[in-house]
Amino acid sequence: MRVGSGWDLHKLEEGRALFLGGVEIESPKGAVAHSDGDALIHAMIDALLGAAGLSDIGTYFPDTDPTYKDIDSRVLLRMTNDLVRERDLDIVNFDTTIVLQSPKLASYIPLMKESLSEALDLDESCIGIKAKTAEHILGELGSSDAVMAMATVLLEER
Ligand code: MG
Repeated sequence: MRVGSGWDLHKLEEGRALFLGGVEIESPKGAVAHSDGDALIHAMIDALLGAAGLSDIGTYFPDTDPTYKDIDSRVLLRMTNDLVRERDLDIVNFDTTIVLQSPKLASYIPLMKESLSEALDLDESCIGIKAKTAEHILGELGSSDAVMAMATVLLEER
């Protein structure tokens, strides 16, 4: 068994789209990013790479590469899962947390699970997603000017 952890943070600005777990969230502010800025998926990618003893998301998908401009992060997640599987490792489960002051994400969690389950070919019962606010503190997180996500993954050798 191997465990991995990942973390990501994106600044939020008005007039941009907000994606989390591959789902578009109705929000006045969205992520400032080279890709679609999906903080949850980026944290999951780093968790997978870490568990497999590989590098980080910036090494595999650099934000200077035009290939990844506005890319759907689920494509990157699938590519990362392929890298892991090539090393004879399979996902046992993911546990994740999103920190976003607003909007509330509870109603989006089933959609995120469905989207991630499809991208990873993994049962929804193996994907945990918790959504928390920043209690109006923690600077930009508390003022809804940033979104943060953390992910832990367990892999097993095939
Ligand atoms: Mg990111």
